Amino acid sequence: MCPVRRPDSGMKILIVEDEQKIGDYLRQGLGEAGFVVDLARNGLDGHHLAMTGEYDLIILDVMLPDVDGWKILEGLRAAGNRTPVLFLTARDAVEDRVRGLELGADDYLVKPFAFAELLARVRTLLRRREREPVESVLRVADLELDPLKRRVSRAGRSIRLTAREYALLELLLRRRGEVLPRSLIASQVWDMNFDSDTNVIDVAIRRLRAKIDDDFEPKLIQTVRGMGYMLDVPDGA
Ligand code: CA
Repeated sequence: MCPVRRPDSGMKILIVEDEQKIGDYLRQGLGEAGFVVDLARNGLDGHHLAMTGEYDLIILDVMLPDVDGWKILEGLRAAGNRTPVLFLTARDAVEDRVRGLELGADDYLVKPFAFAELLARVRTLLRRREREPVESVLRVADLELDPLKRRVSRAGRSIRLTAREYALLELLLRRRGEVLPRSLIASQVWDMNFDSDTNVIDVAIRRLRAKIDDDFEPKLIQTVRGMGYMLDVPDGA
């Protein structure tokens, strides 16, 4: 007999909230509702966790003393991270809501709010995510990237990537067999132009190789001298 799983059990939520009482209250309530919860009490930690962790949803307070919620949201979306974001705003200011939604937030809640309402919004966002059309897994040789779960594995071994490394690998996989110039990688993955400092890309490629190629055969990321990078099974492999 299969054990009955609570519908939300195992879903991971990141809360970024500097007000201790609200943070504790949300962590406890969502924990009791069956979610796995990480709580960041400042913007810097929140930003770091949001960019490096794998969450099903992020609850983001806008007003943080260091890195504010807007910056965190902007950074996430610029890195291609589409994790649903519910933001918490202290004022019911129309400009705040518009700004948040424009930056790519999925929903907002005005403080003070009832926990039941927050929980309902959280569940709606998670359901909406599940209803999105299933994107198929991207696969080259034994390397797999699941865009829906944001999971990467090679030869069945799970590989943890940073948000940036993930975006880079996704781009290379989606354009498999194409030589991608550094300038294109810069604009797609970093959302900016690195006309001179392409070293940033070389460093990121080296880190990605260390994770997905170094311990495996065949090597999939190929350097095309003077042109850029390409991901494919090498000829003759
Ligand atoms: Ca706050």
